[in-house]
Amino acid sequence: MTDRRTELAANLAQVEERIASACAAAGRKREEVTLIVVTKTYPADDVRILHGLGVRHVAENRDQDAAPKAAACADLSLTWHFVGQLQTNKVRSVVSYADVVQSVDRIKLVSSLSSAAVRVGRELGCLLQVALDAGSGERGDRGGVSPDGIDELAAAVAAAPGLRLDGLMTVAPLAGPYADRQRAAFDRLMEISSRLRADHPTANMVSAGMSSDLEDAVAAGATHVRVGTAVLGVRPGLG
Ligand SMILES: *Cc1c(COP(=O)(O)O)cnc(C)c1O
Repeated sequence: MTDRRTELAANLAQVEERIASACAAAGRKREEVTLIVVTKTYPADDVRILHGLGVRHVAENRDQDAAPKAAACADLSLTWHFVGQLQTNKVRSVVSYADVVQSVDRIKLVSSLSSAAVRVGRELGCLLQVALDAGSGERGDRGGVSPDGIDELAAAVAAAPGLRLDGLMTVAPLAGPYADRQRAAFDRLMEISSRLRADHPTANMVSAGMSSDLEDAVAAGATHVRVGTAVLGVRPGLG
């Protein structure tokens, strides 16, 4: 094994152990939680190693980096998640490789994703990104729709050709009433998810939890955790 492969294998084993313990503590089955490895800022070679270690879901947050990486890994069977703030001028590119966009947070983006998906003849999974710290009608600092904007956005995705409403995503807020209260934030997300599922029963994905708070997310009921640093290492610079 190369050094990098050894390192990633060890990190992955540790994360796997954390997820398994969190599931056990919550009385949940391990297979109820899917690990998505966030490979942003790391090279395609790392994605290839991770695939060799059994990873099947990866996530990226910038189209400029993600598009060439996905192209370099086109021979691997991977599900690509897009988790970053998305400008409409990047939609066409993102739709060419992403299987799921987790950061759907406004109506304008829904129409743009829909026409792009129809054009390439693909069905794109969509998660609505919830900004738990955003007031009514506002958007979050890091993207996301306020909780009271979910119903309208969900209806728009459900009615849009080429799109499939899969569920919700959140990033635990750094400020506001949920700052440093990850478990409370994820519990709130689960309440919003129950309400969403009443109208859209198949929209049952709940993407929450990162390297520092995946246990809270699993305890609350998340179906997907997005882990970067704990698998790949601390990112150089911003990301
Ligand atoms: C970077 C990122 C993650 C992973 O964060 P880590 O702290 O590195 O695990 C998860 N979700 C989103 C939206 C991200 O941008």
